[in-house]
Amino acid sequence: MKQPAVKYSIIVPMFNEEEVIELTYDRLKQVMDGTEEPYELIFVNDGSHDRTVELITMICNFDPSVRLINFSRNFGHQIAISAGMDYAQGDAIVVIDADLQDPPEVILEMIAKWKEGYEVVYGKRLKRKGETVFKKVTAKIFYRTMRIMTNVDIPVDTGDFRLIDRKVCDVLRGLKEKNRFVRGLVSWIGFRQTMVEYEREERFAGETKYPLKKMISFAVDGITSFSHKPLKIATYVGFTLSIGSFLYLIVVIFQKLFTGSTVAGWASIVAVNLLFNGIILMLLGLIGEYIGRIYDESKNRPLYIVRDVQGYSGPKGDYPT
Ligand code: UDP
Ligand code: MG
Repeated sequence: MKQPAVKYSIIVPMFNEEEVIELTYDRLKQVMDGTEEPYELIFVNDGSHDRTVELITMICNFDPSVRLINFSRNFGHQIAISAGMDYAQGDAIVVIDADLQDPPEVILEMIAKWKEGYEVVYGKRLKRKGETVFKKVTAKIFYRTMRIMTNVDIPVDTGDFRLIDRKVCDVLRGLKEKNRFVRGLVSWIGFRQTMVEYEREERFAGETKYPLKKMISFAVDGITSFSHKPLKIATYVGFTLSIGSFLYLIVVIFQKLFTGSTVAGWASIVAVNLLFNGIILMLLGLIGEYIGRIYDESKNRPLYIVRDVQGYSGPKGDYPT
């Protein structure tokens, strides 16, 4: 039996969201019922180890518009979104966080823009309520660095809360890179894009699933998947240092020949040595980041592994893959 056609697919990535997920479901349902068009809510469980899955399973049992894609472990937010897109059947696909920081009501505005003919409608955060100064500052630095470091025009202060057209979704699904930075990919592919502005709410409950470590790796993914500029920095730094060293070499030879004061200066040699070694190691590490990514791609492993899927009636295999 084929699923009835749906117009909208809402993708909700979840990682340990037991405290909010029922409320998120209620709010989404309310908003989407208002459209009076068929929709599906795709909850992607990204390896939660709390009651998130149980709660969604319960909801699945009475609400035929709800689906659950259950990962075998935590694969990360960006991968969870990508999986949602693989399963989405709607003509328009919306990605929204599970923690109600992105108000579901904004989806209606996005849908209105979509009906005007836009193919990507992203949410631009006007204000961020209740987030720490640290988070706001690092987020600001991140978006500005992205701007400078990459040639893709990723709009400042937008997250993954956005609506994309079926066409855009199909193109994204075709981009098979492993270290995914979805919002960058969306900008990169073009199409007619516009935005709606909204105020980012406080996290309703629970705490952020993006500790500093994840934020940093997210930022590195973002920059390295869209730019080779960091590698160019290596070239520039190396070049400048070589010129400097060469000039200093002339000074040293001059001193040796004409002044004889060459024993002094031991401290400066050690200092320069340490400095240069540090820089070389750093740049090697940087090159390693890129090589690591080439390695990831060449392994050709699947992006994610699904343990089970719920909310699709009929025997297994009825859901899209
Ligand atoms: N998330 C996920 N996998 C992860 C981390 C986060 O699916 O490894 C989900 C999380 O449940 C939430 C969304 O990604 O729905 C955004 O995460 P969070 O709200 O913690 O990020 P923040 O808003 O603090 O940047
Ligand atoms: Mg959040």
